[in-house]
Amino acid sequence: MTMPAKDLDQIVNLCKRRGFVYPSAEIYGGFRSSYDYGPLGSLMLRNVRESWIRTMVQKRDDVVLIDAAILGPPQVFEASGHLANFSDPLVDCKTCKQRFREDHLEDKSVCPNCGAKDTLTDARAFNLMFKTFAGPVEGSGAEVYLRPETAQGMFVNFANVLQTSRKKPPFGIAQVGKSFRNEITPGNFIFRTREFEQMELEFFVPPAEGPKWYEYWCNARLQWYVDLGIPLEMLRLRPHDADELSHYSAGTADVEFAYPWGWGELEGIAQRTNFDLNQHATHSGQKLDFFDQSTNERYVPFVIEPAAGVNRAMAAFLLAAYEEDEIGGEVRTVLRLHPRLAPYKVAILPLSKKDTLTPLAREIFEALGERYMVDYDDTQSIGKRYRRQDEIGTPLCITVDFDSLEDGSVTIRDRDTTDQVRVPIADLENQVRLRLGF
Ligand code: ATP
Repeated sequence: MTMPAKDLDQIVNLCKRRGFVYPSAEIYGGFRSSYDYGPLGSLMLRNVRESWIRTMVQKRDDVVLIDAAILGPPQVFEASGHLANFSDPLVDCKTCKQRFREDHLEDKSVCPNCGAKDTLTDARAFNLMFKTFAGPVEGSGAEVYLRPETAQGMFVNFANVLQTSRKKPPFGIAQVGKSFRNEITPGNFIFRTREFEQMELEFFVPPAEGPKWYEYWCNARLQWYVDLGIPLEMLRLRPHDADELSHYSAGTADVEFAYPWGWGELEGIAQRTNFDLNQHATHSGQKLDFFDQSTNERYVPFVIEPAAGVNRAMAAFLLAAYEEDEIGGEVRTVLRLHPRLAPYKVAILPLSKKDTLTPLAREIFEALGERYMVDYDDTQSIGKRYRRQDEIGTPLCITVDFDSLEDGSVTIRDRDTTDQVRVPIADLENQVRLRLGF
């Protein structure tokens, strides 16, 4: 019998215990709702990013990658509309002084913190952007903003990329990087934090092809999570109602995941028409359009934007992979992570710490390390080491024992089935590749 994760605490505890995620500045009592990614978490975040880049950029010839600045001048966010509109409705409780996002309240007449009735103020717009100052002077003129999304980097570089990459619509510009939002109520572990990472694509198309590509990206993005191991029943694509849509949007849908607290957004896919390019063209005075030589037509492309969160995706992958099962009457925790997402792909476990086994085990570690992130562990009993690797999601363990010195073979143990097979060291790389799928 297998038991999936029932609540978030199981994941939070595992993450802390095994070095995936720590509360930030913990030795100073923690920094509210900020997290640091430890030795395993940083590897997993990198794997989420790389899996996205692999699918969205590497395996296509119509998308290029950029890495734009995090700090930006007010003009960019004036044009994008963030200075005027990027806000959430904020309410205060007059009794306990806590603040909440009005659209997240279940009952607008009751304070969710102290329970007082009719003590919440009217909502006011609270801008979510972090403002700071560049250079040695504080004050207007030196104001800069930390980007609240990566998308503006793609719009302001549209003409640069068009000229230098020789792409033409339909084509996309992708970016992965940190974004910052002064969220009123961060929470649910790494689901909503003030500093987070996004993976965004701006896919520019001829206006008439907008609906077709919107549908294409909705399906492609849902499939990405399925391909990386999230069961379809834990996912859904939820089209926004007409009253949720921004004025320029010709369609928005969210990929949602069944988090322990309910359905929550993993990613949004929006058909943003030519709103963004038009805004930046007007505000900058530069032409941001495309001249199609085959038809002799000049047009401002429409854009489809799939915008995902690296940290939210990591939380979903962990929740979907977490399981407790029974092996030989003993309960084990196992993370059934897709091999591409697992922090380590392989663990090398010499049966004993004796010097006789070390040289061969190190040799295998070094050979596989050329291709994969490999762990090496020679402490504790072999059973305990298997459990540890199961708990951090390592797909394969390779045991080097005394017979290995004689017969030139090692044992590969599979995380999911716990099956063990003996394979010749000469064929090991090939065997590992076959099992991992890459
Ligand atoms: P929400 O409604 O949950 O605040 P949003 O609709 O404002 O999200 P988008 O602006 O569409 O989010 O951002 C795209 C993606 O970036 C989200 O789907 C999410 O994965 C990620 N993201 C946004 N805000 C945060 C945050 N505060 N913490 C972590 N990830 C975030």
